[in-house]
Amino acid sequence: MGMNSVADLVQDSAITHLATPANFRHGQEIADTNGVTFTEFSPFRVAAHVSGPATQPRNTLLESTDAGLHWQCSCSNNKALFCKHLVATALQINRRASHHHS
Ligand SMILES: [Zn+2]
Repeated sequence: MGMNSVADLVQDSAITHLATPANFRHGQEIADTNGVTFTEFSPFRVAAHVSGPATQPRNTLLESTDAGLHWQCSCSNNKALFCKHLVATALQINRRASHHHS
């Protein structure tokens, strides 16, 4: 079996396990106000610029690796934290994947 794509690893159900309820809610608000701009989008690596009324501008990175999902956000050095910016990025990946135009 091949590696999962980032989109496979960040389905909504997975995000709710990774993020706290509060960060999930805040991330949803960011995604709903079109706060996520992808700067890189490939099956195994997605980078984005995240901004909006409720957040300072941040950069996020989501990667599919042999060890599973790897993530990073410029808001924190805490590697375990799946913050609202990562939630927003992941939700936007799902939205993009669910209406893919050619
Ligand atoms: Zn963040």
